[in-house]
Amino acid sequence: MEKSTLIGPFKQIITMTGIPLKGAVKDSELHIISDGGIIITGSTITKIGDFELLKESDKIAETITLKGNHVCVPGFIDAHTHICFGGSRAKDYAMRNAGKSYLEIAHAGGGIWDTVMQTRKSTQEELTKSTIKLANRHLKNGTTTIEVKSGYGLSVDEELKMLRAIKEANITAMPDLIPTCLAAHMLPKDFQGTETAYLSEIADHLFPMLKSEKLANRIDAFIEESAFSAEDIKDYFNTARALKFDITVHADQFTPAGSKVAVNYKALSADHLEASTENEIEIIANSDTIAVALPGASIGLGCDFTPARKILDAGAALAIASDHNPGSAPMGDLLTQASILGTFQKLTNAEVLSGITFRAAAALNLSDRGKLEEGLLADFAVFHSDNYQDILYNQGNLKPCMVWKDGNLVYDKHN
Ligand SMILES: [Zn+2]
Repeated sequence: MEKSTLIGPFKQIITMTGIPLKGAVKDSELHIISDGGIIITGSTITKIGDFELLKESDKIAETITLKGNHVCVPGFIDAHTHICFGGSRAKDYAMRNAGKSYLEIAHAGGGIWDTVMQTRKSTQEELTKSTIKLANRHLKNGTTTIEVKSGYGLSVDEELKMLRAIKEANITAMPDLIPTCLAAHMLPKDFQGTETAYLSEIADHLFPMLKSEKLANRIDAFIEESAFSAEDIKDYFNTARALKFDITVHADQFTPAGSKVAVNYKALSADHLEASTENEIEIIANSDTIAVALPGASIGLGCDFTPARKILDAGAALAIASDHNPGSAPMGDLLTQASILGTFQKLTNAEVLSGITFRAAAALNLSDRGKLEEGLLADFAVFHSDNYQDILYNQGNLKPCMVWKDGNLVYDKHN
C-alpha cells in the first residue's frame, strides 16, 4: 500500500466545499475546518478533518507538523492566460499611457501583431523555456493550474509550434498547464483572403493535428469588431463542436456580441465581459456558460472592470483569471487582481475565492481540483496567518509559505 502523509495542524482549512457553482455567496457559507489536517496518499487527498483525530489513523507513515499559524486553501486556478509569447510590449504600454490611440499604436508597429512577429521569431525551445519560467513564478503565488492559449502564431505551422511548446512546458513546469488553441485571435495581416477563408484553413489543417498530437482540447475565438464576427465564426465553431472540442470565447471586451455566441455554442466560458449589458448578463446567467472576469486587462488598459457583482446577482457562475499577456495584462498576478476586483465590484471573500478555485476549475472542465475534499488532487496553498481574510486583505502581498501540487511540496519558503 502507498504510504500516507499527514500535514497540519492548520489554524483554518478553507475547503470551498458545499458552495453552489452559480450565484452570489456569503462568507458565512465558507466551510472552515479549525485546527485541521490533510492526509495525502500519492497525488490525492485521502482524508481531511480534525488534526488530532487524523493523527490516530494507523495508515500514516509520516506526519509533517507545522509550527505557528497557517491557513490552507485550494491551489488557485488561472483559467485564462497567454503566457506563451515572444518579446515585450513595454513600448505599447508607454504609448497608451501617453495618450496614444489603439490605431496610433498599431501604426507604430505595436498591438497583437507585434507579439505575433516576436513569437514567430522565437524557437519552440525558447517559448517552452519562457512559459515554464512564468508558470513557475505563478506557482509561488499559489497557482497550481494555468490555462495557456496559443494565438500568437496565426498560421497552421506557427500555431503548432506554440502548442508543442506549451505541451513540452507542461512536462517541466510545476503547475499543470491546460492548453487552448486561439488561432482565431485575429486575422493575420499576411493572410491573403477573408476571415472565413483563414478560419477554414485552420479548421481543415490544424484541428486534426490538435487531436492526433494531443495538443489541445479547447478552441477559443476573439469575437470583436477588430477580430471575428458572430457570422465569421459559425462554421469554425460548428466544426469544433462536431470534433468534440470544448469551446471558450473572448467575449464583450469592447462591444457586446461574443457572450451570445458563447452561449449559442455551449461554450464552457465567456471571458472578459467588460462591455456586457444587462441583456448579455441575463443570457449568461440562464446558461451553463461560466463568466470569466479578467481584472488584469482592466488594470493594464485602464478600462472598466467586468460587472462581476451584477453577474453574480443575476445568478451566473463567475471565475476570475489573470489574462496574463504581454500587451493588455502584463502584471499577471492573479491574487492581486482578484483582490482588487473584489474592492471595485464589492465581492465577498467567498465569491473571490470561489472564482479562483472551483468555479475556475469548472471553466476548464476539471472536476478533480478546486476544492479540498477526499478524492481530489492534493493541490493547495498555505499562508502564514490565523485568519483566511488576511489573504485578500493583503491584496496579493501576502504570499504562500508553502505550495503543494499533486501531493508534493513543490514550494517551501521555510527552507
Ligand atoms: Zn485573453
